[in-house]
Amino acid sequence: MTFNHSILIVEDEADIVKLLQTVLLKEGFEHVYAAATAEEGWLEFQKRKPDIVILDIMLPDGEGYDVCKRIRSVSNVPIFFLSAKADEIDKILGFAIGGDDYITKPFSPKEVAYRIKARFRRDDFAQEAGQVKPVIKAGPFEYDEQKIELKKLGEIIELKPKELGLFIHLLKHPNQIISKESLYDRVWGEEVFGYDNTVMVHIRRLREKIEADPSAPQYLVTVKGLGYKLVIKDE
Ligand code: CA
Repeated sequence: MTFNHSILIVEDEADIVKLLQTVLLKEGFEHVYAAATAEEGWLEFQKRKPDIVILDIMLPDGEGYDVCKRIRSVSNVPIFFLSAKADEIDKILGFAIGGDDYITKPFSPKEVAYRIKARFRRDDFAQEAGQVKPVIKAGPFEYDEQKIELKKLGEIIELKPKELGLFIHLLKHPNQIISKESLYDRVWGEEVFGYDNTVMVHIRRLREKIEADPSAPQYLVTVKGLGYKLVIKDE
């Protein structure tokens, strides 16, 4: 039996990647991609749009947690953390930022394959039962979480990952005022001085892409002193 689901492994230890790839292939997964750094992992994620991500925590250029946050800002794809550290703290952190499962090294690759299969089965089942709604709709906007694709009136709008992250957060809370801090925290997730300006710059770029007249926004409006709001009128 073969599977159409694709898997992205972000791991810098070549032996582990090879081991996982071999076992997953044997278990019927024909689309297994690999990345060896956090940056490469993020790029591959955007390119491949995998159905599941296996994410190592200690990567040469950063931590898997940060990759997880970046992925979570645009997608609900299942993420399995892979780590040599079994501490409870790590587990809690992993789940708190949106990890779905946790695999501790050394692990049995067969068990990993089974856990992946179990996860896909559960998702397929939920989808059949109508429990999964991968498409968020609000007014003229439609976001497909599976495809990482935003449309306005049926037309695809190309957004940069950070712009998309901002927009999805607003899209999930239409007609609510969202503060700059919370937008910043959601998309960048780190404390940096001057977030105000960063958010403003990205909001401006977003407006250029989603508004008919960016200088007189109809959807993405500023609420003075409080933040932003995505205005969606009842149809
Ligand atoms: Ca590592």
